Amino acid sequence: MRLLIYIILTFIAYQIYKVVRRGLGTSEQVNRKKNDDVITAELVEDPVCHTYCPKNEALMASMDGKSYYFCSEECKRKFIEENNHRGHGER
Ligand SMILES: [Zn+2]
Repeated sequence: MRLLIYIILTFIAYQIYKVVRRGLGTSEQVNRKKNDDVITAELVEDPVCHTYCPKNEALMASMDGKSYYFCSEECKRKFIEENNHRGHGER
């Protein structure tokens, strides 16, 4: 009777081990996919501080039908402010 309990416990432990191992494998695949996305991600230049950042992480602003990308909210604000000043000056 005791032996049967040991067998069942071993079986359960093995099932848990299998699930955990499969779980780790899946998360590893997801991480690898994420890294691929980063590598293949298009880099865009921030016109304010001239740093390059991935397009999917950059902040976008549209101006005169063009799209501009920024590394931070601060750069985006600066760019829009400067553009507005320039627009007023020309007129
Ligand atoms: Zn910037």
